[in-house]
Amino acid sequence: MEKRTFWLVVGSQTLYGQDVLDTVAARSQEIADELTKVLPYPVIYKVTAKSNSEIADTVREANYQKECAGIITWCHTFSPSKMWIDGLRDLQKPWCHLATQYNKEIPNDEIDMDFMNLNQAAHGDREHGFIGARLRKPRKVIAGYWKDERVHKRLSDWMRAAIGVAVSKEMKVMRFGDNMREVAVTEGDKVEAQIKLGWQVNTWAVGDLVKEMDKVTEQDIDEMVKVYTDSYDIATDNMASIRYQAKEEIAMRRMLDREGCKAFSNTFQDLYGMEQLPGLASQHLMSQGFGYGGEGDWKVSAMTAILKAMGEGGNGASAFMEDYTYHLVEGQEYSLGAHMLEVCPSVAADRPRIETHYLGIGMNEKDPARLVFEGKAGKGIVVSLIDMGGRLRLIVQDIEAVKPILPMPNLPVARVMWRAMPDLTTGVECWITAGGAHHTVLSYDVTAEMMRDWARMLDIEFVHISKDTTPEKLEEELLVKDLVWKLK
Ligand code: MN
Repeated sequence: MEKRTFWLVVGSQTLYGQDVLDTVAARSQEIADELTKVLPYPVIYKVTAKSNSEIADTVREANYQKECAGIITWCHTFSPSKMWIDGLRDLQKPWCHLATQYNKEIPNDEIDMDFMNLNQAAHGDREHGFIGARLRKPRKVIAGYWKDERVHKRLSDWMRAAIGVAVSKEMKVMRFGDNMREVAVTEGDKVEAQIKLGWQVNTWAVGDLVKEMDKVTEQDIDEMVKVYTDSYDIATDNMASIRYQAKEEIAMRRMLDREGCKAFSNTFQDLYGMEQLPGLASQHLMSQGFGYGGEGDWKVSAMTAILKAMGEGGNGASAFMEDYTYHLVEGQEYSLGAHMLEVCPSVAADRPRIETHYLGIGMNEKDPARLVFEGKAGKGIVVSLIDMGGRLRLIVQDIEAVKPILPMPNLPVARVMWRAMPDLTTGVECWITAGGAHHTVLSYDVTAEMMRDWARMLDIEFVHISKDTTPEKLEEELLVKDLVWKLK
């Protein structure tokens, strides 16, 4: 993982004298140290900002420092905002305004005008908020006491969104073959995606992959099969198929690493020179943090890698998913999600099994090996990025995953079952109205608020379907957003 840090920039001014500035600096250091202990990434106290040039220099440094993933600002005292204009106008990194104060309580006996001048965040953070609004600068505002767990959780989530932006800006997607013929939603403007999100999406020939596979030795394959058997149960006698998947994984991994790609796509319509669609191979790559999209879906592939990086430990429980079929029995309304082969085992409830089965779709000469498992229960989201023509729309829906209510013994793929919010059929109506794809990223540890922050940081449209959404409200929202985004 890349080293990532966040910078704390604390607003003040010279009006109150050196003693006050020394106190502000010492307390800011204390806050940064405390936050570093409880947050997933270090917080570095950078400066007590007292002048235009100090702020502008700090922001420019933040822009250029690769490891700086965002800045957190706070005004311990009053800090006149005209001196923040140059810096904030040039800011290119995610910004969080933490409206906090050093003391939790108003000290009844101690409080006098000196105390008031030193501890006037309530006053200073309003001046700071005005200039953020006046500059129309995207930012997250988090208010609360800096030692409160709730504040830590929200800062942590904002940090993860900012990490998602850093990963997005460095994202390279390797496409093997083109999109599945005639499919609309997996298409999109790659130039726009690079301008807005930073993604470099390019194509490599399947023939190059086949050549790379030819270079894989039997010993390389032995080592990879050992990794598979350590991680998964083998539920097939067809070791040749497992070995073939190992060969595919090793070859894809070598090409991905050589090009610095963190995501890839392929299509069953273009496997020329290969015996099997990569199943186990793609699944095991995903478990290591790589993004994947089936049928040439480069958008969902990059999003899978980004959500994984935003999750717990930098490789969270997020998976490429596809809505397949519904269970519409009253009181038991669920979506069943799966894919032809490629579901990431990071969302498995138990240890996955390797199975081999016939696959009729595509050019599979041999039965491809794949991981089969049930998805775990829990709250989550599904995410879809679509190209509306002239802009990108990110759709996020809250879901509640359950242990699949049927064993489905003849289903030869990994499966996840969930109920979309606000309820299955209303949720489906909303999703379809917004234009959400059949491919999604399903995540158990990235939240809708994190994705909202991510979309704001990257300046793309965000649509959230939650327990409170109604089709009527959503239709109005989409109409207004369509106008707004045409004006932007
Ligand atoms: Mn698909």
